[in-house]
Amino acid sequence: MASATESVHQPRVKGPEEKLKVVVIGAGLGGLAAAMAMYYAGYEVVVYEKIKKFLPLGDSLGVGENALRLLTRWGVRDKLIAIGNKSPVMHIRRWDTGEIIATQRLMDMAGYIGHRAQYHASFLSRVEELGVPVHMGTAVATFDEYAPSVTLETGEVVHCDLVIGADGIKSRTRELVLGFEDKPKSSGYACYRAYTEGDRIRDHPDAGVLVNRDQMNIWIGKDLHIVQNTCRNGGDFNWIITHKDDDDIAESWSQPGKVEDAVALVEEWDPTIVEAMRLTPSCLDWKIVYREPLPTWISKSGKVVLLGDSAHPHLPTSAQGASQAVEDAATLAICLELAGRDNIRLATLTYERLRYARVLKTQKTGEDTRRRWHNALRDLDAGREVDPESVKMQWIYALDAEADTRARFAAVSAQIKAELAANNDVPILPMSLLGDDKFDVPSISDERKREVAQMAKDMFDSWESSGAQVYKGKKRVRSEEAGAGLGSAAVAAPIEPAGVAIAAVGA
Ligand SMILES: Cc1cc2nc3c(=O)[nH]c(=O)nc-3n(C[C@H](O)[C@H](O)[C@H](O)COP(=O)(O)OP(=O)(O)OC[C@H]3O[C@@H](n4cnc5c(N)ncnc54)[C@H](O)[C@@H]3O)c2cc1C
Repeated sequence: MASATESVHQPRVKGPEEKLKVVVIGAGLGGLAAAMAMYYAGYEVVVYEKIKKFLPLGDSLGVGENALRLLTRWGVRDKLIAIGNKSPVMHIRRWDTGEIIATQRLMDMAGYIGHRAQYHASFLSRVEELGVPVHMGTAVATFDEYAPSVTLETGEVVHCDLVIGADGIKSRTRELVLGFEDKPKSSGYACYRAYTEGDRIRDHPDAGVLVNRDQMNIWIGKDLHIVQNTCRNGGDFNWIITHKDDDDIAESWSQPGKVEDAVALVEEWDPTIVEAMRLTPSCLDWKIVYREPLPTWISKSGKVVLLGDSAHPHLPTSAQGASQAVEDAATLAICLELAGRDNIRLATLTYERLRYARVLKTQKTGEDTRRRWHNALRDLDAGREVDPESVKMQWIYALDAEADTRARFAAVSAQIKAELAANNDVPILPMSLLGDDKFDVPSISDERKREVAQMAKDMFDSWESSGAQVYKGKKRVRSEEAGAGLGSAAVAAPIEPAGVAIAAVGA
């Protein structure tokens, strides 16, 4: 477990010849984690955030032990522990009676749980303490991946060595990297989510027990589950129902729902939770959409890189969206350091290769957990006990992303170097390695493989047709059209569509 006594890193001291200037787009948890990781790596880092002032949006979010270990080294641990749920365990309960089916360490499942906005405020205040500039209300409008630079909506051009696109699920940076928009898909599920004061529930004869101390409970039933947790020792109360829903896709953290619609789904369920839900004044209706694995997270120049939700949004049942963004940040910082200033592309390609399979596994775990919860009672009703081990996700938490990157960087980067040399400087897409035993990831549907093969082809075609890429709004324009001073563009050799990658993906 990430120990309270684990020491905070000393920032590395880098001379001017080693120091990189890193622009981070987006001050969400991923972007702020990247800011901390770059700061401790000794780099100059600046963050641009389009929102003027953060509103307390969202509700509970898990920070797993895998992330907490890194955040401890970046000096945020105490702030997070102070506001997180302190229950040592969570209970998995039967939908109708509330009978406990399994109890497990919370750390084995969701990590520390706190309000997303409060965790976010903690990250932000740490970044500010470290003296990293965060420019609020400053959207990045366009990019030049070869300069590299970003142009702000104010028209100011900011030059740097590396651009990190931590701009979330609706990422523009992802469009630059892919050359087109990767639309989300309906997952076939939606959540109603509510976060309210514990005092609203405290005096209710059935439901009051849910806020008498910090706790976390999950009621599982056929095709539906309810997660309930508290924060601030029962001061705040959160419930989330995940249910089947095939309505139109809308990606929003603020679409209102109706509490009565949520209650109608669980009228016959354990009154302890249903009565608590009835006492909640409002809820959000959140369609769970997802994007399947992207063909790549790295632009052609290797100097624009995706991180966090822009690269790999997670389903809520993985409880790993924020934690995987934190791991990304740690791995990227170390890859940059080990590759050295003159090898940024090698660093980012290695980052992608090191992270890709793990992230895919944590994404798939979200689906798998939901499936197991929604089916567990079939076993129970057939007279079998639910094996508590079957609901755990413990394997996720052991990874120390910093140590892992240091251990594997040399071999993986050497492999990538050899591939680039053998393949006319065209990287092999990580997706195309998924059949490789070493990747050890759950299978991807043939349909997605075909889709990705097409995406990869489109991507390489668009790379081929432009000397340099400047991204404006929804469409890519050639550098000459954009009128940008892109002397370095000329060095971009035309490339063949990546036969190796595409053939392997489509196989
Ligand atoms: C409002 C909100 C509420 C959430 N609530 C929950 C929750 O309750 N539970 C949960 O598990 N997860 C929640 N999440 C998701 C969770 O926070 C993320 O999975 C995780 O933190 C990783 O996010 P990220 O930093 O990659 O992206 P995000 O958190 O989406 O951050 C991206 C940031 O980039 C900014 N941005 C986008 N485009 C630009 C641009 N062009 N220029 C500058 N800035 C830009 C956005 O304004 C945003 O602040 C929420 C996310 C959001 C945005």
